Amino acid sequence: MGRVYNFSAGPAAMPESVLKEAASELLDYHGLGMSVLEMSHRSPSYQQIFDDTEATLRRVLGIPDAYRVLFLQGGATLEFAGIPMNLMRTGHAGYLVTGNFARKAYKEAQKYGEAEKLASSEDTDFDRIPDLAPVARRVAAGDLDYVYICQNNTIFGTMFHELPECGDTPLVADVSSCFLSEPLEVSRYGLIYAGAQKNAGPAGVTVVIVRDDLIADGPALPICPSYLDYRLEADKGSMLNTPNTFGIYLCGKVFHWIEQTGGLAAMREHNLEKSGLLYDYLDQSELFHGHAQPASRSISNVTFRTGDKDLDAEFVAGAAERGLVGVKGHRLVGGMRASVYNAVPLEGVKALRHYMEKFEAAHTAR
Ligand SMILES: *Cc1c(COP(=O)(O)O)cnc(C)c1O
Repeated sequence: MGRVYNFSAGPAAMPESVLKEAASELLDYHGLGMSVLEMSHRSPSYQQIFDDTEATLRRVLGIPDAYRVLFLQGGATLEFAGIPMNLMRTGHAGYLVTGNFARKAYKEAQKYGEAEKLASSEDTDFDRIPDLAPVARRVAAGDLDYVYICQNNTIFGTMFHELPECGDTPLVADVSSCFLSEPLEVSRYGLIYAGAQKNAGPAGVTVVIVRDDLIADGPALPICPSYLDYRLEADKGSMLNTPNTFGIYLCGKVFHWIEQTGGLAAMREHNLEKSGLLYDYLDQSELFHGHAQPASRSISNVTFRTGDKDLDAEFVAGAAERGLVGVKGHRLVGGMRASVYNAVPLEGVKALRHYMEKFEAAHTAR
């Protein structure tokens, strides 16, 4: 069987050229007679791979010099704790609860200080980004150490199309499922972070980009484990301990692929086109209904359902038979979810839409 179209939410599709290149280098990296998998993280050859990975990311994303880039492990989930332990200097932060991962981060933060829910869309099953005006008014009081958002809500298929006004209060964003899917103005944030397995590489690498002055004095909480101490990790070049060497190498290849494919502006065009193909169909379909409110729609994760569980299951099974895999929705939402990350080709999305059309015709024919 050839390669399928993979709509999985993560780990997710990676560019085929990246996989081929990695395969060709697997046994013998650049004539060194060993694999990157076998290389000491302290060797000059590996340091070169690491430095190139960071430099490429800095070019692609336009990261200002005042920001440090860390390549950590533990997934986005570990940073739910790392963020309050490093940044809750007065013990008080504001959280926007717009989905499951935002809720988890909010709950985790409560272990370390006072996490205040500034806004939520829980009462409408996270189908939208809530009104941000009250958030701006609350933040203006100036007593919060940071404001936290999950910029793209992977499970529900919503994203922030504008950021809350935070003034001088640092904005912290989980960008796991929208990282590198479109241009992003790093200087508007105090910290952004992403688990790589959605759009940037394999599972096991978390990229943390943090403004240097926020970590100048070390972590806010003395109990912060050394591993999660952003100051220490920055000073040690993400090598306080053994990093995910191979994962970082693969991320580097994905960063190069993005650069060679036109950069983040091109990624955005491509992702708008793909998600738009599906949203256009959802807007005219009698059978399928989108979960996200139109104004909050994600360009990474498209969520929809028929409203009939059996029919949804039939759709998912039929899709897999056609080589369209990973379209089953998360159990919290049900239905379907098509993740159309950077590496998912337009042809795959066209094939999915075509199948939706055929499925609808077959199930509404009288
Ligand atoms: C996948 C995801 C997470 C969880 O990532 P892990 O690497 O599994 O910890 C957190 N936030 C968002 C937005 C995600 O998409």
